[in-house]
Parts: sequence; structure tokens; C-alpha cells
Amino acid sequence: MVGVGKTQEEIEKELAKQYIPLSYAEYEEALSNGKLMGLKCLSCNKITCHPMPVCQWCSGRDMERVELSGEGELLTFTVIRVAPESFEAPYIPCLVKTKEGPNVIGRLELEPEQASQALIGKRVKMSGTYTYKGDKFSGGAHVCPVFKIVEP
Ligand SMILES: [Zn+2]
Repeated sequence: MVGVGKTQEEIEKELAKQYIPLSYAEYEEALSNGKLMGLKCLSCNKITCHPMPVCQWCSGRDMERVELSGEGELLTFTVIRVAPESFEAPYIPCLVKTKEGPNVIGRLELEPEQASQALIGKRVKMSGTYTYKGDKFSGGAHVCPVFKIVEP
């Protein structure tokens, strides 16, 4: 807790600490520039992505920005053929296990007719981004990474 049993210097150092070294808005802005950013924990050395105020593995608060490779493995996906309000079907939401560790949600760049369970486990790489227009539930537009299968 800030202030309990600490010197004035320690309190000032604690208060000056930046607890969110990468905001969600900055994460989306980086995505728009083709970069998948995450946070490296200075306690456990693991990577958190998308950004959160604490490490997703150990809840540590000392983290620094890192750029991820955008490479990973396709864990799972589904083809959406009936879109929710403000979305356009068909599209393929997917879950990717990044090379650096954390799982990231995005879209898969693939013709829906080519989608099959055989694609699970394939290597993927970030190939761009998609901007959702947003609807009455999402509070405006959001950007997500788009992945492409790189292994035949
Ligand atoms: Zn950690």
C-alpha cells in the first residue's frame, strides 16, 4: 500500500511509477502501424498481450513494452456466417498462440470455403489489421490483428 511504512522518497518513487506502460489505445495504434505490441514482465520475464495493468502470468506490475514477432500457431477459429449488428459476414475470428507466449484474438485471412479443422495447429503470421466499425455495445471502433497461414 502506498504510504505505509515508507520514506517520503519511496512514496514519491511509487507515485511516479507508470502502471500502464502500454494503454489499449496505444496497442491499437501500434497495430494500425503493423506492430503487435505486448508487455514484458520484469518479475517473471513472460509476455502479456493484449496489454493489461498487471502481468497476465504473475500479476506483477513492473512491465516494459516489447514488440512481438506476430508469428504463432493457430489454436482455434470459427467461421461467422450470420454477422452481429454492424459486422459483415462472413469472417473468421481466431485465437493464436504467439511465439512469445500469450494467446491473441484476431481474424484469420482465409476464404471461408477453405476453412477446415485441418488448419488447427498451423503456423500463422500477422498480415495486417481489421477495424471494426463498432456497434451500440462496443463503444466505438476497434482494431484487431489479422493472421495468415504461412504453412501449407
Ligand atoms: Zn510476470
